Amino acid sequence: MRTLEAAENGERLGLREIVCLLSSEEEEKQILFQTADRVRRTGVGEEIHLRGIVEFSNVCVQNCLYCGLRKGNEALHRYRMSPAEIVRAAEKVKALNFGTIVLQSGEDPWFTRERVSDLIREIKGKTGLIITLAVGERPYEDYRAWREAGADRYLLKQETCSSPLYEKLRPGKRLEERLQCLRWLKDLGYQAGTGNMVGLPGQGLEDIARDILFFRDFDCDMAGIGPFIPHPHTPLREAAGGTVELTLKVLALTRILTPEANLPATTAVGTLSPDGRKRALEAGANVVMPDLTPWEYRRHYEIYPGKVRPSGSSEWFQEIALPPGRIWSYGPGHRVRKR
Ligand code: SAH
Ligand code: SF4
Repeated sequence: MRTLEAAENGERLGLREIVCLLSSEEEEKQILFQTADRVRRTGVGEEIHLRGIVEFSNVCVQNCLYCGLRKGNEALHRYRMSPAEIVRAAEKVKALNFGTIVLQSGEDPWFTRERVSDLIREIKGKTGLIITLAVGERPYEDYRAWREAGADRYLLKQETCSSPLYEKLRPGKRLEERLQCLRWLKDLGYQAGTGNMVGLPGQGLEDIARDILFFRDFDCDMAGIGPFIPHPHTPLREAAGGTVELTLKVLALTRILTPEANLPATTAVGTLSPDGRKRALEAGANVVMPDLTPWEYRRHYEIYPGKVRPSGSSEWFQEIALPPGRIWSYGPGHRVRKR
């Protein structure tokens, strides 16, 4: 408890203290969530920012062991929306009054530097939306061209800060390369979002504590924290997966260590439990990202089981109860620096 009070007053927590708080139960856990909720109120206020996600391609050249879109999953029906369809989807996001669109996909080489640049220019020109990209690891020159074309933010979760675990889960990839991408994104002036999965096989509390310290030390603008949910068509089908409780503790500690960051109540936590997103919003989260991918495609973007739901466009708010005192925000929802 004393540790939490100190952290709320701006003292820096270390690895040991974070591991200890990640193990908290019952009353101590509730105090952790309440502390995070207070830090959220002073750090980012009562607004819950809405971002509309459009998952425009489920084609992926990577083979991440945890993900249903991995190239080795031959059972998945693959799709790729045309640029004209993506622009139409962006116009729908705009029509709902949202300030931000998140364009997410597998690592799909059809979307070259030029094609994505053209897309960004067209969406910006037609809608004026804030554009967040989440299309994986690309060369510096791609990130630069897209920033110049008008992209504002980029999501690239580090997934785990444990290099051995990272290298096992993402065959042929190295953690250092992903961190290099994140540094480039920041240098180019993107608001940079990172994040992790909670409950990966072989991941210990110390590994998770290192993820949280990374969010602070990288001074991330956003962090997506979700439970790992095993997918039946992947090599990790038998794994136990993450829990809502541990995910909420990770989220709460991340809020305490990064008071100004934009932290979503992730779809994954809502998939594990019907009140998962509401509880996340009461334990530090301040962003919700409704899935606005056209239904004919959305049902094939199955990163993990249970993710795909028919609700979307105008039904999203019936699924997420607004905690007392909070308000939906349709503004741009940028990270605001107070320090
Ligand atoms: N291809 C891009 C973006 C799409 S994947 C990339 O990998 O960055 C988006 C996120 O889905 C990943 O960052 C990962 O954290 C999450 N994810 C993948 N498989 C998952 C699973 N089985 N359970 C929970 N989250 C998963
Ligand atoms: Fe591809 Fe991203 Fe899934 Fe990895 S996590 S297989 S890069 S979509």
